[in-house]
Amino acid sequence: MRAEIITVGSEIILGSILNTNAQYLTRRLGEIGIEVLYHTSLRDNKEQLKHVIENGLKRVDLLIFTGGLGPTADDFTKEVVSETLGLRLYLDNNIKNSIKSYFDKTNKTMTSNNIKQAYIPEGSKPIKNDIGTAPGIFIEWQDKILVLLPGPPREMKLMFNKYVIPLIKQDYIIREATIKTIGIGESYLETILKDIINSRGNPSIATYASEGVVDIKVVAKGNNEEEVDLLLKETIEKIRNKIPENIYSYNNETIEEVVFKLLKEKNFKIAFAESCTGGLIASKFTKIPGVSEVFDRGIVTYSNVSKIEELNVRKSTIKKHGAVSKKVAMEMAKGLLEKSNVDIALSITGLAGPSTGSENKPVGLIFIGIATKEKLITIESRLSGDRESIQNKASLKAFNELRKFLINM
Ligand code: ATP
Ligand code: MG
Repeated sequence: MRAEIITVGSEIILGSILNTNAQYLTRRLGEIGIEVLYHTSLRDNKEQLKHVIENGLKRVDLLIFTGGLGPTADDFTKEVVSETLGLRLYLDNNIKNSIKSYFDKTNKTMTSNNIKQAYIPEGSKPIKNDIGTAPGIFIEWQDKILVLLPGPPREMKLMFNKYVIPLIKQDYIIREATIKTIGIGESYLETILKDIINSRGNPSIATYASEGVVDIKVVAKGNNEEEVDLLLKETIEKIRNKIPENIYSYNNETIEEVVFKLLKEKNFKIAFAESCTGGLIASKFTKIPGVSEVFDRGIVTYSNVSKIEELNVRKSTIKKHGAVSKKVAMEMAKGLLEKSNVDIALSITGLAGPSTGSENKPVGLIFIGIATKEKLITIESRLSGDRESIQNKASLKAFNELRKFLINM
C-alpha cells in the first residue's frame, strides 16, 4: 500500500507553522509497512484541493488528509473530498449529540456552524475525536482509502493511533518480523538485501543500525492471510540463506539474552575475565533476570599484575607478546576456567584507546579467548570508534563469539 499525506492549511504554506503532521504520519505509517510516496501541502483553497485529490487518487492507494475539518468557512476538506468522490453528505445524529455533549462538558456554547461538523459522506465511517469537536472520516472508495483528520497535532495523533491504524489493519493484513544481525555492516547488508527487495515494495525491508548490530525489519502486506504469512516466511528464509552466521535472533532478544538461553539449555556455568571492557560484559549480562543460573563470576583484570595473580597468566608471556595478544587472551581464559571451575570461560584483552600506549599496536585491536575443558580458541578483531564505542563493540563481539561457540559445539 502506498500513501500520500495531504496537509491542508494556509499557515503551513505561509511558513507560520512547521508541518509536523506530515512527518509524524509518515513515520507511523512506515512502522506498519506503508510507504509514503508524497507529501502535499496546500492553502485553504477549494480548486487546488480538488486537483490534489484527483491527483492523489491516480498515484496512491491511501490518502491521509489533515486540517480543514473545523467549523469555520475556510474549513472544507470534507466537503471537497465528498464532492470529488461524488458522495452525498448527510447529518449523523450520533455525531451531533457527541459534539453537543462535548460543548456541555467544556462549558462552551455550541454555535450553529458546529452542526456542519456532524455531516459525513455516505458510506464512510466517522472517527471519534475524544479531545475536540471535529470528528475524522474514514472512507473506502473503490479500491482506495481516504482518511480525514483534524489539523491540531494532539487530536490528529490520538485519533490516528487509536482508531485509524486498527481500521487500516482490518482491511489489510500486515505481518512483520525483526531479524537481528551482528557483525555485518549496514551498507554491505543493503547490497545483500537488494536482490530480495522486489519492485512492488512488498514485503518492505528496512534496516536499522545501532553500534555493532543491525536490525532488519520485514513487513509483508496483502488481503489474504495465508499469502501474507507465506510471503513473510519466504522472505525471512531468503535472508537467512544469505547471512546464516550473522543472525542471532528473530524474537527481538538482545545478544546477551541469546547467550543466556544457550547456556541454560546446555546447563553451563560461565565466568568472564575482562581487561579492556572493564566489566561491561558482566554488567550487560547481569541485566538479564535469572542470570544467576548460569553466571558464576566476572573479574576485571586490568593490570598485568592482576592477570598474573588472578588468572595465572605467565609473566614471560606478557613480556614476550604484550598484554594485548592472542597468547595472553588464551592464558587468561584457561586460567579463569581452572580457577573458577566453570564449564566455559571467556577472556578479553584489547586497546580501547585513544592513545596506543607502549605496545605500539593499533587502537581497537582486541583478543577474545574462550575456554572449555575440551577446547581453547582465540579470536582477533579490529574495532573502530572512540573509547566508549570500542568497549561497547568489544562486549557485543564477545557475546557473539560465545553464541557461535555454543551453537557449534
Ligand atoms: P480546527 O477545528 O482547529 O479548525 P482543523 O481540522 O480545521 O481544526 P486546521 O484549522 O487546519 O485544522 O488547523 C488547526 C491547527 O492545527 C493549526 O492552527 C495548527 O496549529 C495545527 N496544524 C494544522 N496542520 C498542521 C500540520 N500539518 N502540522 C502541524 N500542525 C498543524
Ligand atoms: Mg480550521
